[in-house]
Amino acid sequence: MPSKYVIHTKHMPHRFEPVIKSGIIAWEEGCLKCAVCVKKQCVYGVYDNRRLDPLQMIESIDNQCMNCFRCVQGCPRELIHKSLNPEYQALGDSYWTPDIISDLWDQSETGKIPVSGSGYPGPFSGPGFDSIWTDMSEIVRPTRDGIHGREYISTAIDIGKTPVNLTFDNKGNLVKKLSHIIDIPLPIILRMPPFGSLGDKTVQGWALAAGRLETLFALPQDMIDDGLKNFDQWLMPEVSSLGFNPAGIPKGVKIVEVPYCDEMDEIVKDLRDFNPSLLISVRIPMSEEMEERVLSTVKQGFAIIHLEGAPDGCFHDDKNRFVKDGIRSIHIKLVENGIRDRLTLLAGGGIALAEHATKSIICGADAVFVDFPILVALECRMCRRCTMGLPCPVNIESAPLDWVAARVENLIGAWHSQLLEMMGAMGIRDARRLRGEAGRAMFFEELDSSIFGSMGEVEEGCELE
Ligand code: SF4
Ligand code: SF4
Repeated sequence: MPSKYVIHTKHMPHRFEPVIKSGIIAWEEGCLKCAVCVKKQCVYGVYDNRRLDPLQMIESIDNQCMNCFRCVQGCPRELIHKSLNPEYQALGDSYWTPDIISDLWDQSETGKIPVSGSGYPGPFSGPGFDSIWTDMSEIVRPTRDGIHGREYISTAIDIGKTPVNLTFDNKGNLVKKLSHIIDIPLPIILRMPPFGSLGDKTVQGWALAAGRLETLFALPQDMIDDGLKNFDQWLMPEVSSLGFNPAGIPKGVKIVEVPYCDEMDEIVKDLRDFNPSLLISVRIPMSEEMEERVLSTVKQGFAIIHLEGAPDGCFHDDKNRFVKDGIRSIHIKLVENGIRDRLTLLAGGGIALAEHATKSIICGADAVFVDFPILVALECRMCRRCTMGLPCPVNIESAPLDWVAARVENLIGAWHSQLLEMMGAMGIRDARRLRGEAGRAMFFEELDSSIFGSMGEVEEGCELE
């Protein structure tokens, strides 16, 4: 059995006070001046230790409060309240919600699985990945605990064309040469996010994290400079259709990505002339034409395809179709054509939570690209000020290299633990077996149509009696 893949996490504190979900509002007017004020009774000493952070102009009280509500309930004049913080509610957008951002911050700090307390309070279905329910029927088996248990759960995957069979001669030696593949110990590839206030150390920190995690870090080829020379083997350069120069690809690189475009054949020829052993991934945007493009790309002999969704987890040209729909439809199409095992399907766009990675694999992806979460791991608030040339509120560009790498390792460590938890609960011991295993999930749309489909559609304006 191969040695167990473990991501070593260590507590890595925030550099700035995080934006907290709720704040304390304490009125002075009408105070009875009780002999022992409830503020003195706070077991966490929140009121006694309050101070002002002059750099961020933040009072410590909200960040230290543990939300026990003792002071709120104990004040006889009801002068203490807790209220939602408008700054928290303004974080991110409708997809990268404040709760997702805050969860990513916590995981990057602690490296641990987030615990939401007493039960799940949210809705049971929603758009995109939220419409998939995973089958956790094996959760009762303690040996299936992949994190601490005895059973080994492998999250490793292969990238490239795996052989259909192996042929041996009479002496037991392999007859056919094995095709070139890369194996990575977890189905997650880091990818440079589309925006961010980035410095040299940020990019190097991500590359260092990819190396320590033994995965890949995809980034535009023109961002590769001397500062990344020690990380060649973990880099996945994304070449551009404009002004492509193969000489700019570092020697140790094993895989590059080309965009699906008119110049693709020319770029690929140049790449193969430059280094015949390079693996080539073709990036195809999730849109109306993707099916036809994927099939033609596979027919041309390419063995790695990257289906790229939009950052909000939808198709680029249709906000009613989601990344999970795109992965599933392509996976099924490849199976129907009998060519699924000829290629590795990578997917990305809107992968915001560990469960999104698992659900993408259930839908048929071999691995996923993670982009914005590695920026949020560095305390990004998704405010997009950097896209307007304004200063970053958390100075991401000045973050030290080791801090960047450790935060990303913590985040991916927490995701890896969640992947193990989900796989263990589903009774799956190998991530390669999870691919396309739709029998381990229920899809809300399918259940809805099979149960209520015969009742017809409720038309707009129609009143139900
Ligand atoms: S809610 Fe609890 S932890 Fe927070 S300040 Fe009041 S007593 Fe302290
Ligand atoms: S916090 Fe805002 S300015 Fe800084 S990287 Fe994130 S989106 Fe850009």
